[in-house]
Amino acid sequence: MLNRRGFIKSLSVLAAGTSLIGPPRTSLAGTGGGKGGHVVVIGGGYGGATAAKYLRMWSQGKVAVTLIERNPRFISCPISNLVIGGVKTMADITVGYDGLKSTWGVKIIQDDVIGIDPIERRVRLAQGGTIGYDRAVLAPGIDFMFDEVGGLAGHTERIPHAWKAGAQTVLLRKQLEAMPDGGVYAIQIPKAPYRCPPGPYERACLVADYFKTAKPKSKVIILDANDDIQSKKGLFLHAFNSTYQNIIEYRPNSAILEVDANNRVAKLEFDEVKADVLNVIPPMRAGDIAVRTGLPLINDRWVDVDWLTMEAKGVPGLHVLGDAIFPAPTMPKSGHMANQHAKVATAAILNLLANKAPNPTPVLMNTCYSFVDSKNAIHVASVHQYDAEKRIFMPVDGAGGVSAAASELEGQYALGWAKNIWADMLA
Ligand SMILES: Cc1cc2nc3c(=O)[nH]c(=O)nc-3n(C[C@H](O)[C@H](O)[C@H](O)COP(=O)(O)OP(=O)(O)OC[C@H]3O[C@@H](n4cnc5c(N)ncnc54)[C@H](O)[C@@H]3O)c2cc1C
Repeated sequence: MLNRRGFIKSLSVLAAGTSLIGPPRTSLAGTGGGKGGHVVVIGGGYGGATAAKYLRMWSQGKVAVTLIERNPRFISCPISNLVIGGVKTMADITVGYDGLKSTWGVKIIQDDVIGIDPIERRVRLAQGGTIGYDRAVLAPGIDFMFDEVGGLAGHTERIPHAWKAGAQTVLLRKQLEAMPDGGVYAIQIPKAPYRCPPGPYERACLVADYFKTAKPKSKVIILDANDDIQSKKGLFLHAFNSTYQNIIEYRPNSAILEVDANNRVAKLEFDEVKADVLNVIPPMRAGDIAVRTGLPLINDRWVDVDWLTMEAKGVPGLHVLGDAIFPAPTMPKSGHMANQHAKVATAAILNLLANKAPNPTPVLMNTCYSFVDSKNAIHVASVHQYDAEKRIFMPVDGAGGVSAAASELEGQYALGWAKNIWADMLA
C-alpha cells in the first residue's frame, strides 16, 4: 500500500519548485452535475478517451468526468504506418475531442498532469492548480528509455522513432521521401514487451511497398532485438520472402547498443549498419507520470494492477490501464486492448462508487490488423478471461487465431475497425 511518506518521497522527482500540497487549488470535484462522484481521467488516448465517454454514458451523466490531455487532438498510432507508407494523410488519423465534450459532457482540460497524490486524491497541472477526484483513471501510454541505446538521447530528429503518432510520423515520412533511390531504411524493434507487437513488421512492409514503386533499388533492414518475429510470424515471413524478397532483410537477435546519430550508423554487438533513414524504436515503459507517482512497477517498467478493478496495486482509487500496465499472459499492448481495459475499469468504478463489488468474471477481446501493402491486411484475434484463482486474465484456448492469408477484404475491415474504434472512443 502506498503511504503518505512513500508517496511524498516519490514526488522528489517532480518538476522543480512544484509543491503538491500548497496552493493554488482549483477543485472541480462534484461539478458538472456529478452527484454520483467525480472521476479525473489522465490521458485521452485509446484507453483514457474510452473511459471518459463510457463513465458518462453508463452513469447516465451522474458521474462528472474531467479528461486531462496534453494534446489538442487525438492522433492515432493505428493506421499511422499507412501515413509513413504514403497511403494516408495525417488528417486521416486525427480526430478532435469535441464529441466527448458536446455529446457526453466530459470536461476537457488541455494540460500536462505533473503530479498525482493518491492519498489526498488530487492531481496537479503544469499550468497551475490541482484538481480533486473521487476516483482517477490513469492512461498515459508509454514513454521511451532513450538511455538504453547509447548516443540516442536528444537525437530523435535525426533518428526518429515514430512510435507516438504526430510530428514524428511526419518526420519519418519526410526522411523516406528525401532518401535517394538505392538507399537503406533500417528499423530497430526493441525487446518485448513493447507497444503494438506486429506494428514494426507492418511498418517494414509498408515502407518496402513504397520503395517498390518509388525507389526500387532501395532496401529495408529489420534489426529485431528479439530472437524471432513477435506476431503473425508466418504471415509476415510470407510477405518478407515473397512480395518483398529482394527488398526486406530480416535480422533477429540484433539489438542496437549504440548509434552514431551524425552518420546514422547503428552499432550492434558484432556488426554495424549504416542507414540513410534510421528508425530506432527504443525500449519503453509506462508513461512518465506513472513512474513519477511512485506506482508499483514490474521490472521497473510497467504498472502492476489488480485486474478486477484495474487499480494500481496498493493504490485504491487510481485505475491504470492501456499500454502503461504489465500485460497479462499473451495480452498485447494495443489500442483495442486499451479500449477493453477502459470498459472493465469503467464498470468497476461505477460499481465501487455505488458501494457494489466489481464484476467478478470480466472478459476482454482483441483484434489487431496489419497491412502488408497499401491494400492487403492480416489480423490476429484473441479472447482473455479473468481467472479468479490466478487473479489475472488468461487467454481462452481455441478462441482466437490469425488470417489464413492477406486479403483486400481484411484491408477494408482494418480501415473499418479504425473508424469504428475512433467513434467508440470519441463520437
Ligand atoms: C505504428 C503503430 C501502429 C499501431 N497499430 C495498432 C493497431 O493496428 N491496432 C491496435 O489495437 N493498436 C495498435 N497500436 C498500439 C496502440 O497505439 C496503443 O496500444 C494504444 O495507443 C495504447 O493506448 P493508451 O491509451 O494506453 O495510450 P495512448 O493511446 O498513447 O494515450 C496516452 C495519452 O496520454 C497522454 N498523456 C500522457 N501523459 C500525460 C500527462 N502527464 N498529462 C496529460 N496527458 C498525458 C498522451 O498525450 C496520450 O494522448 C499501434 C501503435 C503504433 C505505434
